[in-house]
Amino acid sequence: MTDCIFCKMVSGELTPDIVYQNESVLAFQDINPKAPVHALVIPKQHIETLNELSDSALAGNLFTCAQQVARLQGLSETGYRVVINCGADGGQEVYHLHLHVLGGRQLTWPPG
Ligand code: AMP
Ligand code: ZN
Repeated sequence: MTDCIFCKMVSGELTPDIVYQNESVLAFQDINPKAPVHALVIPKQHIETLNELSDSALAGNLFTCAQQVARLQGLSETGYRVVINCGADGGQEVYHLHLHVLGGRQLTWPPG
């Protein structure tokens, strides 16, 4: 996807602040953090939303990466939140599947 901002991060056209990556996933710092720690985990292949995620191995990889990001960012003991916004009502703004990893403060519930 040539016009997808997250695909450009995978290709190297854009250079995010990378936290972790392996052959199928990439994690980087959110440019507009909503918490002291706010990273995004994306599949390296372009998948628009959670609705299109059918590869269970990739799904597992995304969650393992979120766990790894939490560990690297020092959140494992204090806790954190993993969020996927899907579609218009979910508040999704970038249509390349991503997991938000948020922590470093007490997060409120329910979300707005
Ligand atoms: P969502 O609303 O779930 O689609 O979240 C999209 C997220 O991508 C937001 O938290 C944005 O701050 C973040 N974002 C958008 N552009 C960039 C960028 N160039 N680098 C890092 N994060 C970005
Ligand atoms: Zn993409």
